Amino acid sequence: MIHSFSLVLASRNVKKAREMAAQLQPLGIPLLDLSQFPQAPVVDETGTTFAENAELKAVETARALGQWTLADDSGIEIDALGGAPGVYSARFAGPDATDEANNLKLLAELRGLPPERRGARYVCHLVVADPQGQVRAHVHGQCRGQILEDYRGSQGFGYDPLFLIPEYHRTFGQLSLAVKTCLSHRARAFEKLLPALAALSRTS
Ligand code: IMP
Repeated sequence: MIHSFSLVLASRNVKKAREMAAQLQPLGIPLLDLSQFPQAPVVDETGTTFAENAELKAVETARALGQWTLADDSGIEIDALGGAPGVYSARFAGPDATDEANNLKLLAELRGLPPERRGARYVCHLVVADPQGQVRAHVHGQCRGQILEDYRGSQGFGYDPLFLIPEYHRTFGQLSLAVKTCLSHRARAFEKLLPALAALSRTS
C-alpha cells in the first residue's frame, strides 16, 4: 500500500520507541525515528503532569520538523510515596540518572514495607500533533502492579524488573515484549489511540 501519511516517534529512548513501534504495527503506517532528524529539538520536560509533557514533546517536535508526530510521556506512581516519582520517573535519582540508579533509589525508599504497601501504577499519555503543531489526539492508559524487593528479569526498561504483574506472578522484566504489548499502560493508551490515528491517516 502507498502511504502519504507517516509518523515521527518523538522519543530518544530506544526501548520505548521499540514498544511504540510494536503497538503501531497493526496500522501499517510508516514510522520515522528521531535519528533521521538531527535537527529535532531536545524538548525540556517543564510540565508538572504527564499530559503537559506529552503535549510539549509532540507539539514542539511536530512544529520543528513539519511532520505528524507522536509523543509518549510516561512514568511510575508509587502509592506509598504519594504518587512519586510520577513525571520525575526518569530523573528520580537525579538529572541524567540511569535506570539502575533509579531502581536502587526506589528499593531504598520502600525498604521494610510489606507487599500490601508496595502498590504502584504505570501511567502513559500519548499525544499526536499535526505538522503545524496542533494536538489532534490525546489519550492515556494505566497499569497497576507491585514493587518487589529485588530484580526479576532483564526485559523491558526502566522500573520493569521491579514491577510485578500480580495476575501473571511475573515482572515486566520477565514477560516478553509481546506480552507487555498487550498488558502495559502503553498498551492501554494505544488501544484508544489506534482508531483515532487510523481515522487521521485516512483523512490527511
Ligand atoms: P519519559 O521518557 O520522560 O516519558 O520518562 C519515562 C520514564 O518513566 C522512563 O525513563 C522510566 O523510568 C519510566 N517508565 C515509563 N514507562 C515505562 C515502562 O514501560 N517500563 C519501565 N519504566 C517506564
